[in-house]
Amino acid sequence: MDDPATLALSPWREVADGVYVAVAEPARVNLGLVVGSTGALLVDTGSTPDQGRQLRESVASVTDRPLRAVILTHWHHDHAFGLGAFPDVPTLAHESVADRLVGPEALVDAAELGLGPDELRLPSRGLAVAASIDLGDRRVEVAHLGAGHTEGDLLVVVPDADLLFVGDLLESAGPPWYGPDSRPHEWAATLDGVIGLMTAGTRAVPGHGQPVDREFAFEARGRVAAVSGELIRLVDAGVAEADALAAGDWPYPSEQIAAGIAPGYAALAGRGVKGVRPILPLA
Ligand SMILES: [Zn+2]
Repeated sequence: MDDPATLALSPWREVADGVYVAVAEPARVNLGLVVGSTGALLVDTGSTPDQGRQLRESVASVTDRPLRAVILTHWHHDHAFGLGAFPDVPTLAHESVADRLVGPEALVDAAELGLGPDELRLPSRGLAVAASIDLGDRRVEVAHLGAGHTEGDLLVVVPDADLLFVGDLLESAGPPWYGPDSRPHEWAATLDGVIGLMTAGTRAVPGHGQPVDREFAFEARGRVAAVSGELIRLVDAGVAEADALAAGDWPYPSEQIAAGIAPGYAALAGRGVKGVRPILPLA
């Protein structure tokens, strides 16, 4: 996957006044650029430091304003592994991201991309709830409204453009992806928060695919809630975790959900699942 051809970066496309999206291979991830009168910021970094450098150079084709910040919507490789190209720029991610980037999953992903552990740079600042970034004539807000796709999903809000970057909390190129680090039972509530920030005219740039509107977010919210509900039904019916994927009635193709069964079941431990019933205190 480190063949340069597979790390191609599309030209920037202006999706709102001074707001641009480029698509990076091989994951076809959407990268964002917001330009204000005194500076610019990037949303996500691509899959490798080389791709991050390519991204950084490409910003010069759009603006000569200095980069004020790089924001990671979450820790996954296609969004975060380009961070090594930005050692001199403040980089912001949810406070859980630094641990994830030195964790076993990240190291496996890095090895698959031909990267050593020392090539994964950590964000310079971890965010618990919210931050605001001043770009001169516009302000960009960054918020963690809750977990879902990962424990540390961030939202980037460009109020004057009525536009959000939502990372992989929403995807329009295909169904959302449930991983071992997903929070299936919290995802819908987090999307409620996202929807609460949207009007009928708001556009949300997902991690993958074309920008979506509030109706799309409603629809996704319903399906994500249905995944959680089905997990609860299976647990309450005593279906073993190993049988859950086959036994469940899912709103998405089962391969998208498979890795989310384990965290979905783990979060329900104590509801009486056979084999994971907690031992009651006896005194
Ligand atoms: Zn992701």
